[in-house]
Amino acid sequence: MKRRTYRLGALAGAFALVTTTMATPATAGPLSPPDRDPVAVGRGGAVVTVDPDATSAGMEMLRSGGNAVDAAIAAAAALGVTEPYSAGFGGGGYFVYYEAATGRVHTLDGRETAPAAMGEDAFLEDGAPIPFAEAVTSGLSVGVPGTPATWEHALDEWGRKRPATVLRPAIELAEEGFVVDETFRSQTRDNAERFADFPATAELFLPGGAPPEVGTVLRNPDLADTYRAFAREGAAVLEGDIGADIVATVTDPPVAPDATREVRAGLMTTDDLAAYELVERAPTHVDYRGLDVYGMPPSSSGGSTVGEALNILSTFDPAELSQEEIRHVTLEASKLAYADRNVHIGDPDHVDVPLERLLSPEYAAQRACHIDTASVLAAPVAPGDLDAGAGCAEEGAPAAENREGPSTTHLVTADRWGNVVSYTLTIEQTGGSAITVPGRGFILNNELTDFDFQVSASGAGAANLPGPGKRPRSSMAPTIVLRDGEPWLALGSPGGATIITTVLQVLVDRVDAGRSLPEAVAAPRLSQRNAERVQAEPAFFGTPDEKALSELGHLFSQTAEIGAVAALEYLPDGRIQAVAEPERRGGGDAQVLRPSWR
Ligand code: GLU
Repeated sequence: MKRRTYRLGALAGAFALVTTTMATPATAGPLSPPDRDPVAVGRGGAVVTVDPDATSAGMEMLRSGGNAVDAAIAAAAALGVTEPYSAGFGGGGYFVYYEAATGRVHTLDGRETAPAAMGEDAFLEDGAPIPFAEAVTSGLSVGVPGTPATWEHALDEWGRKRPATVLRPAIELAEEGFVVDETFRSQTRDNAERFADFPATAELFLPGGAPPEVGTVLRNPDLADTYRAFAREGAAVLEGDIGADIVATVTDPPVAPDATREVRAGLMTTDDLAAYELVERAPTHVDYRGLDVYGMPPSSSGGSTVGEALNILSTFDPAELSQEEIRHVTLEASKLAYADRNVHIGDPDHVDVPLERLLSPEYAAQRACHIDTASVLAAPVAPGDLDAGAGCAEEGAPAAENREGPSTTHLVTADRWGNVVSYTLTIEQTGGSAITVPGRGFILNNELTDFDFQVSASGAGAANLPGPGKRPRSSMAPTIVLRDGEPWLALGSPGGATIITTVLQVLVDRVDAGRSLPEAVAAPRLSQRNAERVQAEPAFFGTPDEKALSELGHLFSQTAEIGAVAALEYLPDGRIQAVAEPERRGGGDAQVLRPSWR
């Protein structure tokens, strides 16, 4: 059995006596981060995250009688400690839950919202968009956090344990510290310049003025206190002192006196925090080769775009396609679905989203007839004609490509009762806005940069302009697949706009291309988002696939890493195969309650 425990409590306590910095050098040499396993198989429940401490926090819930929801929130809270640049209390996300008792799939839209004072020109100055990097590191881009309400609602509605119990592993982790690994150090290094401009962030994440060394211990007692307050009061903490501190930080970002960076103030008020509403929405659903694929509806474009692409692929018979042809039609389907996504998806409480039409088999047939198995569609392709029949409709104007950052985190959990959670959460950019709420231990999101700042020349973007109380469009695609009415797969990924193509590729590899789930997760990733070039990971180059697809006319550009999947599959004998990344982001960690490899 693999080593799972790592006790830092005594060590961290002792070091605290001799140092005032948060990162504690180990006198006996650097500590090792806990082991991680990309695949685990067994029964009784599972947790998969990018981080062993977070996976262990979720497992602690399963072991002590908690369910998949308890495990998901425990793991998410732990990620707020160990992956604070990807997700946390100051962000938002989407929670998809299969409830075994009813056979229903629920979704929670915990996306951040814009302040009431935000108009559609909020990111324009003199009629021109402000530089994107300046928007990222600003109070202006901070949305009202939806994560506290998500955790509260999920635990209230479906959890078995009290919030204080669920948050306990994360509180201990924040209090006692975790061992810095290479991924954490390099993410800190990439952000060091921004972090240095905000004293509260530098104090927390640049101990002694530099990124913490691998093998040192990083503590965050302020976050432990924030979590304790949440465990007592729930999301109402945003209406008390913590909320007041968030508003003060957003509206007057606490910048270092010597910083030269222009940091724009935000518009958030305490009323905005009080007005935040978590929304339970009906999931998107498509039938893909007899499987029921459930995803996240708008405000995310995840479920609709994965769903539309799958519907387009449904018009092809995989038995008649070679492996390369399966890749080819997948790239073409995502190109077409992206063109529609960029034009039509926005917050459904503010704009009309033609979701039913976009996910109808008739519309997919109309889109699919543009695909030729022997040639490549010139990109960008235009969005489809929603009003046309099932014929091969005329094209409209091309839709612009969108930009979204490469951050975020995804986790999946399952329990002994058959409940399953697929949860993606984020603070947007790796390192979010870089602005920590002083004394509270968490970085604020920059999610509002997911709005289109203005309508593009081709007319795209109107659905996703900023607006009062509006949610910016997301790409997050937490997904649960049922087979014969029972859970079969759960998966998702970070990666901004590439999330959609990553989820699509893993699904198609698993369902159509005969790959096992670990193979599908490990395979070199491609991302075609209606651009001239397909992004591809280095391992793809030089493969027979690359040769065949290039001969067809696909053009490729290299991207170091695309996504970080967390997934699980129910095997035919009822065991769960829990699957994390073997390599990307330093590898994730999959655990099951009762390991059983046969
Ligand atoms: N903000 C992005 C979205 O909601 C996610 C960020 C990421 O994965 O990098 O789609």
